[in-house]
Amino acid sequence: MTALSKDDVRAALSTIIDPVSGDDIVTNGMVSGLFIKERNIGFAIEIDPADANRMEPLRKAAERAVLALNGVSSVSAILTAHNEAPAPRTEPTVRSDRQTAPATSLLPDVEAIVAVASGKGGVGKSTTAVNLAVALASLGQRVGILDADVYGPSLPRMLGVTEKPRTLKNKQIAPLEAHGLKIMSMGFMVPEDTAMVWRGPMVMGALEQMMREVAWGELDMLVVDMPPGTGDAQLTMAQRVPLAGAVIVSTPQDIALIDARKGMSMFAKVNVPVLGIIENMSTFICPKCGERTDIFGHGGARAEAERLGCDFLGEIPLDVAIRVTSDSGQPITASEPDGPLAAAYRDVASTVLARTSGATTRPAPNISMD
Ligand code: ADP
Repeated sequence: MTALSKDDVRAALSTIIDPVSGDDIVTNGMVSGLFIKERNIGFAIEIDPADANRMEPLRKAAERAVLALNGVSSVSAILTAHNEAPAPRTEPTVRSDRQTAPATSLLPDVEAIVAVASGKGGVGKSTTAVNLAVALASLGQRVGILDADVYGPSLPRMLGVTEKPRTLKNKQIAPLEAHGLKIMSMGFMVPEDTAMVWRGPMVMGALEQMMREVAWGELDMLVVDMPPGTGDAQLTMAQRVPLAGAVIVSTPQDIALIDARKGMSMFAKVNVPVLGIIENMSTFICPKCGERTDIFGHGGARAEAERLGCDFLGEIPLDVAIRVTSDSGQPITASEPDGPLAAAYRDVASTVLARTSGATTRPAPNISMD
């Protein structure tokens, strides 16, 4: 049997007619983020959010059409708000004396850089970044993860890697590798319990070094675990690399308390698109009886995302297995890849993939610094 190609999938999808325009969904440019991983296929259908309800039958029909292809074992189609054209980015207005080199030179072989951010600490941002990265790798992507949280790097512990990275002959630093990811963190250089005082320019320098001087090689996606809140790391990333977008992690109660909004407005200010919100610690699942309880309420993130006009990327339950596995350096997506929690992260990963496809060639914005 010959391997399935994207053209085969597109041909199957071109039999599906968009009821709004009367054209098929491929001709209409509604299909994005198509990926094939062995016999599993995923893609997004871009729609006007106002049409979400009446598009559900179309989504199902698209899944059925692809599933009918020879050799396909699973199909995951998601509806997503259509990608607005990015706002034009203006000419440099950098008023700081640190005029910098063109951003594209920092990570030339990385297709898409996604920042994982939160308004405040403790919402599970790093846990989400790690599991999202492993889930993306399980979907066949070449993935790196960069710990931009120089103040409190947690990736070494969560990924169970603590060696010091090697320096290569060309003086570049080799990233560490685990769970299918290339990994770089300040925590590899500085012990976790060492209190470091970082001044702004040092943060910027350390981050730039972890991008420029690390031999990342070719990657489909670099997931960047940002420090919480807004500060120098956010500025550096927004200014120095072409971010495909930011993902905001929030708990249900924090969304109500505007912390997520703080994170979002930071990226909006520097013209980085927010890909959407992930609700972490959503529903509590009792480890003994499996009963679901909505401790902090449920669905708040979806409603809030809608209100703020950004996408809702999915929800991750509050489950002690997520904490135990991440504390022991064996993220749940790697240690129980067939379980329901890994599946929840994979769903989010597919949505992120769909939202970033084609969004990778934008130049980094130049921003004013007073
Ligand atoms: P942040 O990066 O936002 O400071 P962390 O990722 O370090 O947060 O997570 C804080 C704590 O919450 C960690 O102990 C982590 O294991 C735990 N945690 C994160 N997400 C979940 C979840 N969905 N279910 C259970 N525990 C979680």
